[in-house]
Amino acid sequence: MTSAPEPPSAPDPRVVKALRDVVGADHVMVDPDLTASYASDWTGRFVGMPSAVIRPGTAVEVAEVIGLCRAASIALVPQGGNTGLVGGGVPLAGEAVLSLRRLSGITDVDGRAGQLTAGAGASVADVQAAAVVAGWAYGVDLGSRDSATVGGTVATNAGGLQVLRYGATRAQLTGLEAVLGTGAVVSHLGGLLKDNTGYDLGGLLCGSEGTLGVVTAARLRLVPPSPERVVALLAFSSTSDAVESAFLLRRALPDLQSLELFLRAGLDLVCRVSGAPPPFADPHPAFLLAEVAGLTDPMPAMAAALDSVGSVADVAIATDSTRRAQLWRYREGHTEAINTLGAPHKLDVALPAGELAAFVDRVPGVVADADARATTWLFGHAADGNVHVNITGVAPDDLTVDGRVLSYAAELGGSISAEHGIGTAKRPWLHLNRSDAEIAAFRSIKGALDPAGILNPNVLLPPP
Ligand SMILES: Cc1cc2nc3c(=O)[nH]c(=O)nc-3n(C[C@H](O)[C@H](O)[C@H](O)COP(=O)(O)OP(=O)(O)OC[C@H]3O[C@@H](n4cnc5c(N)ncnc54)[C@H](O)[C@@H]3O)c2cc1C
Repeated sequence: MTSAPEPPSAPDPRVVKALRDVVGADHVMVDPDLTASYASDWTGRFVGMPSAVIRPGTAVEVAEVIGLCRAASIALVPQGGNTGLVGGGVPLAGEAVLSLRRLSGITDVDGRAGQLTAGAGASVADVQAAAVVAGWAYGVDLGSRDSATVGGTVATNAGGLQVLRYGATRAQLTGLEAVLGTGAVVSHLGGLLKDNTGYDLGGLLCGSEGTLGVVTAARLRLVPPSPERVVALLAFSSTSDAVESAFLLRRALPDLQSLELFLRAGLDLVCRVSGAPPPFADPHPAFLLAEVAGLTDPMPAMAAALDSVGSVADVAIATDSTRRAQLWRYREGHTEAINTLGAPHKLDVALPAGELAAFVDRVPGVVADADARATTWLFGHAADGNVHVNITGVAPDDLTVDGRVLSYAAELGGSISAEHGIGTAKRPWLHLNRSDAEIAAFRSIKGALDPAGILNPNVLLPPP
């Protein structure tokens, strides 16, 4: 963990009073003991110190807060569940934190259209639960579901475990409400599936990481429920066998919901940390976890698909919910298990399909060449070409390994951020994926929607 920075000076007491008049005295905190829990990220790699924490309860209050902060030149870091992994929601330069968690209501559930409106502070798990009550499901699922918020997942265009079937968060949006850096409230929550009336502001704000506007609510499409489920854990004798099989399974199983990759070292670590027994008697180098879900029993389709994949070395199948959850723990336990080794560098990259296996095989060597003390842990969303490269044993602010890995992914035609965003962590390398012309267009958009530059000024865009 990096050491905590010097406390920033608290905002002018007159501004604090004005903010308290808007959101209530209890919801503007300047005492470091009270603001500490908003200061660092989930991994402990990014440690900041907010000058204040402001917790509005409505979109109108958000707009008034932005107006006051703009007039007083107070930079704001929007924060939801603080589960982001690229340092984008942490006040690293003494900014004030704008916490959206109080905007947690879920309203206007439309069981016929399969849509609902969720406040920015509602968690993904809250949305999933509300969808079930309405007879539907929510297409986004991720390991941080209990804490990650709608605002945060929209701001990062979060992906997760079901992207291959339902798309990332942007694909769920049928409308958005946000307060721009100008203080203007833009609200387009009608939820029409067809609505070609100009620029898609919701699509633009989605993935903008709090740099253009503060998301206050989202209209979300729901998906039909898939109550019948089968999970298969497949073992392979090489990464390339696992990756090739992932492509075959994707084509063979239209109801494939998730397809996750992990390796022996990560599985051993998860078993050691969690106490879970190894899934197979023999050790294997690579694994796929496949979940198929539908209205009817997916087992016959899964069995036929597995028959067509010649290279499976071992298989464990789960149909009941307890055993399915046990198999999922081997994959979902990775993040927590790696965190027990110290604050990891988390490099979330995407590769073209043809380069995925080679990247997974070679990237540990790239890391070792850059820093002999580093250990590489790999897992990810195989069907999306998305690998989470986790590196332990490196100081939080030593960026040598980060640069080498991101450059290697980009050389292969990949993305330096598949689903976590750029945040503060990857700003120096945005140019690996984006041309000067694209970055100039980004700056123009930022200048138009946040002319005073008070929203997340140290996130996404590289310093000019
Ligand atoms: C165990 C674990 C598993 C994870 N798995 C996945 C995964 O599979 N896929 C994936 O994509 N991510 C994953 N993540 C990362 C993280 O959960 C996502 O990035 C999530 O979208 C962050 O949501 P949040 O509410 O915690 O946002 P925060 O961490 O609070 O903020 C993230 C970014 O969004 C901005 N922001 C937050 N709220 C708003 C708002 N209302 N308006 C404007 N900007 C805002 C912040 O300024 C920051 O830049 C995982 C994290 C953990 C800890």
